[in-house]
Amino acid sequence: MDKGHHHHHGGDFEARLAACNVAEPVRTYLSQCARFHSSPAPGLLIGAFMVDYALELLKATPDEKLFAVCETPKCLPDAPQVIAHATTGNGRLKVVPIGRFAITMNRVSTEATTEGFRIYVDQEKIKAFPIIDKWFANSPEFVKRTMGDTLQEQILKTGRRFLSFEKVRVPVKIKEHWQPVTCPCCGETVPDYLVVDGKCGACGPMKYYEKI
Ligand SMILES: [Zn+2]
Repeated sequence: MDKGHHHHHGGDFEARLAACNVAEPVRTYLSQCARFHSSPAPGLLIGAFMVDYALELLKATPDEKLFAVCETPKCLPDAPQVIAHATTGNGRLKVVPIGRFAITMNRVSTEATTEGFRIYVDQEKIKAFPIIDKWFANSPEFVKRTMGDTLQEQILKTGRRFLSFEKVRVPVKIKEHWQPVTCPCCGETVPDYLVVDGKCGACGPMKYYEKI
């Protein structure tokens, strides 16, 4: 038995990966993602299959300099961070909170725009996988307590079969040139392009705490 700490699904998950015969390299991706995320959440697992698919389409390896845009902040962003090292910190991951379960990936480029691949959940294809479909649609017919394990198994066995892709053109991120501006309210310094009405964001519309 496990020790009961918050990684307690780790052993179960590894066993399930083996039982479902998930092929490499996606098996390693799934395992790494689950560890990083602290649980093998369904959306994260789908994300790992999406990144694997994107890498294949780009004919890229995870060690190349790749960029990703996630269309939801839920679970998905951890997959490109772990697998392709496209992180918010290194500026190669952008999260756009649209709510679509999709990810676009592209290579580095010196042009103003470049081609990439957008991987998304295909509403036609997903119908062939009722449990995944119910979970994805947030249906009341999906009961996590009794169906959670089956869902996980279905995702591992189904892989990318309910995903589709499209070739897209995306803008290439340019490095911003900036000057420091000292905020007149808090006295801290921010880049000029982030100044709002003469103040830093925290003294303006992006205030997120009260001083105590
Ligand atoms: Zn300020």
